[in-house]
Amino acid sequence: MKISRNTVVSLSFTVTDLEGQVLDRTKPGEPMVALIGYDNLIEGLEKALDGHEKGDEFSVVVNPSEAYGEVNESLIQEVDKSMFGDFALEVGQVFEAESTHGPVPVIVKEIKDNTVIVDANHPFAGKALNFLVVIDDVREATEEEKKHGHAHPDGHCPSEEHHHCCHHHDGDGEHHCCHKHDGEGEHHCCHEHDGEGEHHCCHEHDGEGEHHCCHEHDEEHEAH
Ligand code: ZN
Repeated sequence: MKISRNTVVSLSFTVTDLEGQVLDRTKPGEPMVALIGYDNLIEGLEKALDGHEKGDEFSVVVNPSEAYGEVNESLIQEVDKSMFGDFALEVGQVFEAESTHGPVPVIVKEIKDNTVIVDANHPFAGKALNFLVVIDDVREATEEEKKHGHAHPDGHCPSEEHHHCCHHHDGDGEHHCCHKHDGEGEHHCCHEHDGEGEHHCCHEHDGEGEHHCCHEHDEEHEAH
């Protein structure tokens, strides 16, 4: 079966920048599973996958315009260090800042005496990405997957599992969250409610390149 809209593809990939530095890769035996035709993958990768079938192996360079876009300078901001409280900041840490458009991950670029430069651009913004792709499997999407617009690995809807971090605000403006430790990664977290009622969270990548998020309801902070 060839890859086209309404197929579900399992693929393993390594993505590097043009200098050959590895930016991301799937783990052995844990391919990425995606429903094609619903913007689940970056545009350039979906285009490149089209027509391929199980067993194919190819590489493709995707330009920023069909990947994560160009760097937006206005998303790089200098903020007061005090908004991070006494959290031990390090360059490269990723925080999740609440915005009017929902949670936005921001990376710590530079730490100065009293301020911190944070960048809300996607880490791959402005980068041409070189994908080395192996197609592990291609199958027809189920009706349910087409309705949801995403793949259901092993037949389960990922958004119905408490596997990934999810959070929402209830009517009272309370912040609720659930998450699950995967048993192999560490979770680091820092929460600060600033005067504006903003909620900040940090993400860290472990050595495996896994992205972990930890949200905990902090009664003390809620009291502020
Ligand atoms: Zn679903």
